[in-house]
Amino acid sequence: MADTTKSKSLFEKAKQFIPGGVNSPVRAFRAVGGNPIFMQKAKGAFLYDEDGNEYVDLINSWGPMILGHAHPIVEEAVKSALSGSPSFGAPTAREVEMAELICSILPSVERVRMVNSGTEATMSAIRVARGFTGRDKIIKMEGCYHGHGDSFLIAAGSGALTFGTPDSPGVTKGTAQDTLIAPFNNLKAIEHIIDQNKNQIAAIILEPVVGNMGTVLPQPGYLEGLRKICDKHGVVLIFDEVMTGFRLALGGAQQRYNVRPDMTTMGKIIGGGLPVGAYGGKKEIMDHVSPVGPVYQAGTLSGNPLAMAAGLAMLKYLKANPAVYTNIDKQTTTLVDGLNGQIKKAGLNYSINAVGSMFTLFFNDQHVIDFDTAKTSDTQTFAKYFQAMLAQGIYMAPSQYEAMFISNSVDDAIVNRILESSEKAFAQLKV
Ligand code: PMP
Repeated sequence: MADTTKSKSLFEKAKQFIPGGVNSPVRAFRAVGGNPIFMQKAKGAFLYDEDGNEYVDLINSWGPMILGHAHPIVEEAVKSALSGSPSFGAPTAREVEMAELICSILPSVERVRMVNSGTEATMSAIRVARGFTGRDKIIKMEGCYHGHGDSFLIAAGSGALTFGTPDSPGVTKGTAQDTLIAPFNNLKAIEHIIDQNKNQIAAIILEPVVGNMGTVLPQPGYLEGLRKICDKHGVVLIFDEVMTGFRLALGGAQQRYNVRPDMTTMGKIIGGGLPVGAYGGKKEIMDHVSPVGPVYQAGTLSGNPLAMAAGLAMLKYLKANPAVYTNIDKQTTTLVDGLNGQIKKAGLNYSINAVGSMFTLFFNDQHVIDFDTAKTSDTQTFAKYFQAMLAQGIYMAPSQYEAMFISNSVDDAIVNRILESSEKAFAQLKV
């Protein structure tokens, strides 16, 4: 077991000044127990904590570090932007280049607006969809996460598919009523909700491949079915590609599954690790955004030079090097095949969902297709596995309901190291 004394004392101090000692709840390790690890630096596929311990990083800042940490091209771009001042609050050439690049990569995006986080992107996108359609209600899928905007902190109402209830104090009942919840991968539920709320639904928003209940793939025909339903009823289809964009393919899940949404929300990936988000879509919809249209949305630091420089460097690299996707997908397949082999060999009944370079190991014997099946995973066993991996220097997402990500810095040796650690972790679970 590594010495994590400095992390422990930092956490004690942090709790005196920051709610729960962290600036985003999952980092507190509540779901897995133990003390969160405070990171000091990272390079490539490795993280280094305040005590100097090394970890293989399977989170990659929750997605954006596709090239691995501190990639020289991103570092150089940020340094050069920094010397020209980190912010002007005025338009810059980099923003134009970024917008043009995103539109060239995603055919569904004709206009794009930069914001500062995924949360802002999704909040803004539904406001625009509401302004465009003149309708108030939205449909979101149970288990999908779209940031902490009020409209998204809604749980499924008891038994009913139609009305949501606030999932957090501070979210009003009024807001909850405008968010309708459906199970993922269930087209009938969507049809039912739309039938019960005729001409009232502005948008359907979903993660086309879910990362936030663990990795959950769309079943064949699901995304196509949503597209058809939205076309039929004049509903704006929003793909939240904050995690999947530029990861599951250069053009994200929409390219991989060949379904075009009306709007797309993007996040951290386009900042190469700096705080960024963006939302975009069809010109006719985006022309409703201020100052062209009446829907207000703004941001002092939006299009920030440092974030644009980092994001541009990374996206241009990804566009020029399709081999990145071949490699991250291949390494993920090798890892997942290896894990599946271990599960079988150990006579365990666990399942893995994987696509491209994202995957989740569920501690159940079910095929996870929605939130109900995800919830059958044994989270206590997950926590034990997590701690056994952490003790061997493998840093997984500290919750069952998350995806893990492979970066382009992962090579065969690192995959082997993860697999060797996992074999030992599985063996410990059986004891
Ligand atoms: N949408 C999705 C799909 C996400 O995974 C997240 C965060 N992980 C968000 C939105 C919110 O992004 P942020 O944390 O940058 O606000």
